[in-house]
Amino acid sequence: MKNIYRLISIAAAVLVMAGCVDKGGYVFGTLPPGVTPVEGEALQARNAVYNTDLSELTVYWRATADAKIYKGVEVSFTTLAGTQKTVKMYANKNFPSSFDRFCVLTVNPETVNYRCIWNNEDGEETMSEWACVDELPIRNVTSAEVFTGYRPPKFNLVTKEGVSAEAKKAYESIVGKDVPSQEAYYTDLFLKVLSTIFYNNTDYMAFDYGSRALTTLKCILGPMDLEGALAYVSGDADGPLMMLGSEIMESVASGSTSMEYAEFEIRGVLIHEFTHIFQMTVPYNSGDNPNYYACIEGFADAVRCACKGVFDSSRINTALKYQPYYDDSAERTENGKFGPYVWQIPYGGSGFFMQWLRYYDGDFLRKLSSTMVLMKENWSMEMAVKYILGDSYNIKTLWEEYVEDAKAENTSK
Ligand SMILES: [Zn+2]
Repeated sequence: MKNIYRLISIAAAVLVMAGCVDKGGYVFGTLPPGVTPVEGEALQARNAVYNTDLSELTVYWRATADAKIYKGVEVSFTTLAGTQKTVKMYANKNFPSSFDRFCVLTVNPETVNYRCIWNNEDGEETMSEWACVDELPIRNVTSAEVFTGYRPPKFNLVTKEGVSAEAKKAYESIVGKDVPSQEAYYTDLFLKVLSTIFYNNTDYMAFDYGSRALTTLKCILGPMDLEGALAYVSGDADGPLMMLGSEIMESVASGSTSMEYAEFEIRGVLIHEFTHIFQMTVPYNSGDNPNYYACIEGFADAVRCACKGVFDSSRINTALKYQPYYDDSAERTENGKFGPYVWQIPYGGSGFFMQWLRYYDGDFLRKLSSTMVLMKENWSMEMAVKYILGDSYNIKTLWEEYVEDAKAENTSK
């Protein structure tokens, strides 16, 4: 029996060899610290696509890697903060596409180097030589180009009574002066949000089964009627709605808030709210489960951050604020609403960590969405990280690295 398996394994290896770069991959100039090249072959890549909105580079193999011997890639790249990171991304049978591609979050796609991780005949991990993405054709795309075929809802744009003419004017200078330009502004944000949560429109439709497809959306600017909120999504007799509090625009009109700040903040707030329209959820009720707030409010802030809607200072300070890793005090958990683990904290507490995990898999947020569907009420960040990144990763260790990155970024600014 064992011999038969061995024969199959060798046959598979020969097949993969046929698809390999004949010169043993592309050797690149500078190796990352502590890394030495090893004899072996990198899979031959077909092409690479860089989403400029999300800073995600996806490399596609020419042929699907053989799951019997292919374990994944080690990738060296420049982070969004401009530092160098080298991580192992393991292919994962939970996600068959991980044998066809890998995705890297990087500020500069041309600096991405990768090598394949193979299982040798003794089942040990071996490495190929390094290959460099700059040898490949890299095609730049926007989220709108990734999400072709998406039909936006019919918008109903409403300004409520109580909004001053100056505030309305300030708002229009951000989202557009007439209806078509406002619709284009909202649609553009939809496409950025959707492309962060789903691979493409077909993937989105498959998740949605048409049942939740958004056909209309009322976008309201008005005095906030929900205490403590900047904006919210809800519904009324006409269907779904998004309400944005006009207070921030009033403060721009009065000169106490800069237009530059308001422009960035409103874009970010809208990305968060629009995420609530499209995101996957888990079937437990608010307050019944300590993971609920991370799943809903954490994820919405993860998408906001991935779409570049969060100030760097806010992102870094949030990472540094939530220590220690475990804290069951009433203050931290808001009397047991969530927690006690750091990745159960709502908003940026868990969300900015979720988006940072894209360094370990550029598709992390898309895969996270599918774990919410698959794991249902058993969903937690801890379970999802294992499911997506594999057993060799531990969420606590990753959290510690995330905090170290934030510290380094904090002192370099
Ligand atoms: Zn929210």
